[in-house]
Amino acid sequence: MSLLFKNAAILIRNGSGYEALEHAYLGVDGKRIDYIGTERPEKTYAEEKDYAGKLLLPGLVNAHTHTPMVFLRGIADGLPLDQWLNERVFPIEAKLTAEQIRVASYYAILELLASGVTSFTDMYFFPEETAQAVRDSGIKANLNKYILCFDPNQTVEESMIGPSIEFFEKYNDTCDGRLKVDFSIHAEYTNQPHIVKAYSEECKKHDAIMHIHLSESKSEVEKCMEKYRQTPVEWFESLGTFENPTCAAHVVWPMKNDLKILRKHDVSVMHNPSSNLMIGSGFAPIREMLDLGINVGLGTDGTASNNNLNMLEEMHLAAIVHNGYHLDATNILSSQVIDMATVNGAKLQGRTDTGVLETGKCADIIALDLDKIHLYPIFEYPSIITKSAQGSDVCMTMVDGKILYENGQYLTLDKEKIVQDFKTAVKEFYK
Ligand SMILES: [Zn+2]
Repeated sequence: MSLLFKNAAILIRNGSGYEALEHAYLGVDGKRIDYIGTERPEKTYAEEKDYAGKLLLPGLVNAHTHTPMVFLRGIADGLPLDQWLNERVFPIEAKLTAEQIRVASYYAILELLASGVTSFTDMYFFPEETAQAVRDSGIKANLNKYILCFDPNQTVEESMIGPSIEFFEKYNDTCDGRLKVDFSIHAEYTNQPHIVKAYSEECKKHDAIMHIHLSESKSEVEKCMEKYRQTPVEWFESLGTFENPTCAAHVVWPMKNDLKILRKHDVSVMHNPSSNLMIGSGFAPIREMLDLGINVGLGTDGTASNNNLNMLEEMHLAAIVHNGYHLDATNILSSQVIDMATVNGAKLQGRTDTGVLETGKCADIIALDLDKIHLYPIFEYPSIITKSAQGSDVCMTMVDGKILYENGQYLTLDKEKIVQDFKTAVKEFYK
């Protein structure tokens, strides 16, 4: 199957920034982009789409989320992290069934596709259910079966390591490479050192990526220092976790040498500004990370700490909050935020064949409808994308050359059934 987008504006990288080709052509053949230019290609494509008034850009990567948490959207408003987690979220999660996670996963993917997400990195239980929704929808995802351990006497054999590896072996690199499986440790404060050490070694043996929550709140870091005389970053480093390609969510409270340690081990950070602001965690030092050369992706986190999966909103926040906090309009640039939401996220997912619009790359592409009151005039595309565009301006989402969403229609999913099933499950659960 081949397809030619014509008359579109196309966002391409230009050095360390971005520019848009106007009235341009983008050709897709199979899974790949095979042409980008302002001249009409000589090749004939099976289908042509006139995309005048639309901007093509790389698909967004939601680099840290908990998609089935749509079941808990907005349920714990106004609480700090430890109360939010222990008093509201964990007790509800303990009652959720596989079936409920399944319907929630399909429902969340509706929201992701409609707001331009072509790939997401998830952390939740019953990931087998989310895997079904990934398979059927056509989206890309890095899932995992994360480990938790509150009992210091638990043995490695009794731990969640075995099931986590089984999930990896069964699902990694399935769905034609769309579905990847990572290893995952929920956090320092929800685990025991001997389990984390053994699991980190297993991750290395399996040549896998490690996904963790790290230094999210001030109290998490203080308690860790009290307990281990180490920061969470030092704790994970000492247990060998960072000997794996690691992606760490949050990192709002790195202490003195923590960022250098992360840089030394090439740990990627997933920035979640909505969640950090909503739960009162603080402002992650993103500029410092970028200056050190740390790869920073962007994620929405789950919908109980956001409360949506809208990456354009996340981009808007990432592009402005640090400037305000540091009293510096140049602290974070729009182009850096686009990098975070696309190519940097793809990199931390281990997907180096996507994240930018270039010939030869995977056709993971979205379109914004520029024919909107709030999107005119356009002087600089990166500024419009990060600070004017809304998630609802996304009018097309394509993954691996296949359109999954266009003009409000889902081409792989039955929206009405998914919404109905989800509403029924929510009513049943909370009655
Ligand atoms: Zn999270």
